[in-house]
Amino acid sequence: DLSPTLHHISMARDWLAGNYSPLPVVIAHAEGAWVTDVEGRRYLDALAGYSALNFGHLHPTLIAAARAQLERLTLTSRAFHSDRLGPFSHELATLTGKDLVLPMNTGAEAVETAIKTARRWGYEVKGVPDGRARIIAMAGNFHGRTTTIISFSDDPLAREHYGPYTPGFDLVPFGDIAALEAAITDETVAVLLEPVQGEGGVIIPPEGWLRDVRELTRRRNVLMVADEIQSGLGRTGSTFACDLEGVVPDVYVLGKALGGGIVPLSAVVADRDVLGVFTPGSHGSTFGGNPLAAAVGQAVVELLATGEYQERARTLGAVLDSGLRELLGHGVDAVRCRGLWAGIDIDPRLMTGREASHRLLVEGVLVKDTHGSTVRLAPPLVVGEAEVQILLGALGKVLRR
Ligand code: PLP
Repeated sequence: DLSPTLHHISMARDWLAGNYSPLPVVIAHAEGAWVTDVEGRRYLDALAGYSALNFGHLHPTLIAAARAQLERLTLTSRAFHSDRLGPFSHELATLTGKDLVLPMNTGAEAVETAIKTARRWGYEVKGVPDGRARIIAMAGNFHGRTTTIISFSDDPLAREHYGPYTPGFDLVPFGDIAALEAAITDETVAVLLEPVQGEGGVIIPPEGWLRDVRELTRRRNVLMVADEIQSGLGRTGSTFACDLEGVVPDVYVLGKALGGGIVPLSAVVADRDVLGVFTPGSHGSTFGGNPLAAAVGQAVVELLATGEYQERARTLGAVLDSGLRELLGHGVDAVRCRGLWAGIDIDPRLMTGREASHRLLVEGVLVKDTHGSTVRLAPPLVVGEAEVQILLGALGKVLRR
């Protein structure tokens, strides 16, 4: 007889494709920053669904919005209007300071939409000859899993045996403004970047780089497209990571937390001179902007409009940052922290990131490793100082062993 945990893990092994290797915990319930497994053990969730759960599990306001909408209208398709999509789009456009919203579902779809936006803008506004548009992305990027997006990934794990790859992309080193400037040609339509590279290990670019990219792209008539799917919506202590340098990109790409951890909801947000390139029939999605997602998304935007979560990420992020810095030289080689978001490099002589994640699980804290020795910390923005201390305490204990 298997324990409930082993039972579910063996079912996953029997019935699921092997594209993930989850930590051995089977979650059955959650509330706020805490989850409970099938055997009643509680864990602090310090991953928060890769930042899709910025507002924690089952946030009462978001659940109420979803529940009310569930009993009224869930899907219309875009063949018809709904009474939810306009208000959501208005509020999201207002939050971003942009004119127009194009709603999709997953992050990868929104990135694909941003790529289409940039190419169309290149042909129809900038005047690049049809079929020649190029987009510059960053080394070490992560923008999703579609065949086009993995075509400009430099991660062999994400790419191998998925060719032929989509052409039209160039890579430059993240944070290197001279390399970016040298890569821009008359055919460049967009620079696509993560303001902080999340999957890359919470990699923070040099101070001033985002401002330099903004100035350069404006000067060379190239769109600046910020993928804020993981970095945006409060995580870094401001609504967008670009805000930290006072930068406003031409195009925001949003996802993850936009759906409140309840529904998949993503969006491309930009001004009319950019998103205006879409005409009826030229792009779409059956579920994109559905009333249920729009109701949740509007509630998310309203939570963000208060500024409370950005403030929490800022103040608790400072606590997290200073606590992590105390671990430097005690099993931690590097700390990169922005708001309630940190990548820490574990001393490889001590253990791998995966092993550290395993040991933290045993201590009742859920995190996820990335790239060998890095552990990523991204607790929900609803945590208090006590939870940040629990996380720091568990890390200290695990690394001291
Ligand atoms: N872009 C960034 C910066 C991401 O971090 C992710 C997911 O981790 C994506 C895009 C892809 O989002 P999704 O998994 O919803 O397709």
